[in-house]
Amino acid sequence: MITSVIGFPRIGKDRELKFASEKFFAGKINEAELQETGRMQREFSLKTQKAAGIDLIPCNDFSFYDNVLDTAFLFNAVPQRYKDLNLSVLDTYFAAARGYQGANGNVKALAMKKWFNTNYHYIVPEIEDDAVIELKGTKPVDEFKEAKALGIDAKVDLIGPFTFLKLARFTGSKKASDFAEALTDAYIKLLEKLTAEGASKVQFDEPYLVRDLGSSDIALFEEIYKGILSKKGSLSVLLQTYFGDIRDVYGNVTSLDFDAVGIDFVEGRKSLELIKENGFPKGKILVAGVVNGKNIWRNNYAKTKGILDELKNFVSESSLVVGTSCSLLHVPYTLESETKLPESYKAHFSFAIEKLAELSEIASGNEDAFKKNAELFTSRPDVLDQAVKDRVSSIKEEDYTRLPAFEEREKIQKELLKLPLFPTTTIGSFPQTEDVRKNRKDFKNGTITEEQYVAFNENKIRECIKQQEDIGLDVIVHGEFERNDMVEYFGEHLSGYVFTEKAWVLSYGTRCVKPPIIWGDVSRKEPITVKWSVFAQSCTDKPVKGMLTGPVTILNWSFPREDISLQESTLQIALAIRDEVLDLEKNGIGIIQIDEAALREKLPLRKSDWYSEYLDWAIPAFRLVHSGVAAKTQIHTHMCYSEFTDIIPAIDSMDADVITFEASRSDLLILDALKDNNFKTEVGPGVYDIHSPRVPSVDEIVAALTKIRAKTEDSKLWVNPDCGLKTRGVTETDASLRNLVAAAKIIRG
Ligand code: GLN
Ligand code: ZN
Repeated sequence: MITSVIGFPRIGKDRELKFASEKFFAGKINEAELQETGRMQREFSLKTQKAAGIDLIPCNDFSFYDNVLDTAFLFNAVPQRYKDLNLSVLDTYFAAARGYQGANGNVKALAMKKWFNTNYHYIVPEIEDDAVIELKGTKPVDEFKEAKALGIDAKVDLIGPFTFLKLARFTGSKKASDFAEALTDAYIKLLEKLTAEGASKVQFDEPYLVRDLGSSDIALFEEIYKGILSKKGSLSVLLQTYFGDIRDVYGNVTSLDFDAVGIDFVEGRKSLELIKENGFPKGKILVAGVVNGKNIWRNNYAKTKGILDELKNFVSESSLVVGTSCSLLHVPYTLESETKLPESYKAHFSFAIEKLAELSEIASGNEDAFKKNAELFTSRPDVLDQAVKDRVSSIKEEDYTRLPAFEEREKIQKELLKLPLFPTTTIGSFPQTEDVRKNRKDFKNGTITEEQYVAFNENKIRECIKQQEDIGLDVIVHGEFERNDMVEYFGEHLSGYVFTEKAWVLSYGTRCVKPPIIWGDVSRKEPITVKWSVFAQSCTDKPVKGMLTGPVTILNWSFPREDISLQESTLQIALAIRDEVLDLEKNGIGIIQIDEAALREKLPLRKSDWYSEYLDWAIPAFRLVHSGVAAKTQIHTHMCYSEFTDIIPAIDSMDADVITFEASRSDLLILDALKDNNFKTEVGPGVYDIHSPRVPSVDEIVAALTKIRAKTEDSKLWVNPDCGLKTRGVTETDASLRNLVAAAKIIRG
């Protein structure tokens, strides 16, 4: 059998592209230097896959910021306000991605949303009524030529037109179907250009096909592809799906003139069933996604062989390709960069480069490799903790409910806290400046003592609190200077976790995260945040908000175990964080924020599975964390990056007292949903976008608040940025927060 990779990481083994991009943004290198770094990353990806013996190697999976945004630029779906800046193509592209404030104008970035059920975020294209969709760019062609020059006949990876249209936002009265014809023509032009350059294979990524689809969606899909496929000429066209099964369109997909179809057998619960029930057309190639592109555990070859053997009843061996379940973008580069993990642990992991070897071994059926692989699944060291297992099984139904009910708590808290109307606060972190990172690094490397490390952080906290008092914020935070990352930090203080040094995964743009790995049963070793919060509270008379990460987010931003259920892992973590909540309360912290930024991350892509497969255990797990506190203790939560409009009732039933969330980029659409659902929890819709360095003016924040007030009760409204400030600079943060407080004061007046 031959092998196929959907996409490869691009940020660089040592995050070279990230650092080069940031230098470019700061004006420290020029475009040519940035382009050269990009070229080197592409060369690395291609050569690495070639060396590993991969047969179908993708190109054009590279991006300077996001592939969906690349697609928008490729087909001229660029809002006029960015074109009006009159910048170079690359600068226009970055203006749309990050916002622009400078000599040529002042515009916000496009919205950003979660890429399906991953922690990658794509830029939401905006298509205006008068947009002229046409082939404008040459990126896929250029990257194909580049691969060809390296001796690789690459498969050209394109975001498919259906997924592109489904993810786009239409700002006027036109809809997706109004652009279908123009987009079809533009893709055909692109295929012609690729053919002219000698390309033989293209891959259309259509992950949207794994969602619930209605008849108009299916009609749109068919219309576009009938058009494209009728003009494919000599090109071999692969329709690549991932993140689930394609139960709503299996028949349509297999009867269209695709040469190959890629199906996910890792997340696609019904994929095998679909093939068994409907068969698979003769003469077409099936790319079987069997190597998990999202998790870091070694593939279980025996299990995979079982799937492939079943498939061979329907597809001839020569038409069966061994592939990844999705792009390898979602896993780190290589285990080779990990110098500290013991071999006995490392043997169980597989990152992107190791997955290439897995694909080849599975495809070859090499007996020795299979034997060695089987041994891995007989045991893993240090996994079981009986006390944790017992504690989880003794959780009672009432442990999931906080008493008294919200309305009564709200009264008690208002009386006690005496906050002004429209209380101002932030989401937790303050800028992670060079010295802050250095302090942590020095402590980790042992070049400074614990006392020095703590003294530095206490100093920072003291300054940060003084700054917040000076700005006039009502609820103060300590700034999170001790945290590298909101999940890794907690993982480091919990038993059952394993850490990596360089296992970075792209989250958005140039931002990477380094998810820890849940290796075994999880418990809290000792209080984690208490000393920082208590110190912070000792510096001020204003209330300091304790800052924790919730269990669902900790789970969702870790690489989870595959040997126990996600629910069981989450409950283990929930009990650990519950202990921390109670310790904070005991030590005089009256407001505690439990971030669930990633609550939506593992929400099933099909609505029909939302509650039964996820929310029915995820929401109670959150309640378990805070159900033990007194009525006077105010519990906050925070969410970001994604749409919540459709899960508002579930969010309300988390039963927090206050929720802050990202709203500024999605144009506050969420507020209607809150109103429609009689949302009881107090709310702090973010009044400006922290993902961009742009400073919002007072007027702008007042305008945002005015819009918000039209839809929420004043007595329930908080004023805050839309997320933590750690990625921002000091000056812009100070200026933005001052404007925020000034705006709140104007509204109070
Ligand atoms: N408290 C965290 C912070 O401010 C929340 C981060 C997040 O929501 N992603 O950094
Ligand atoms: Zn956030």
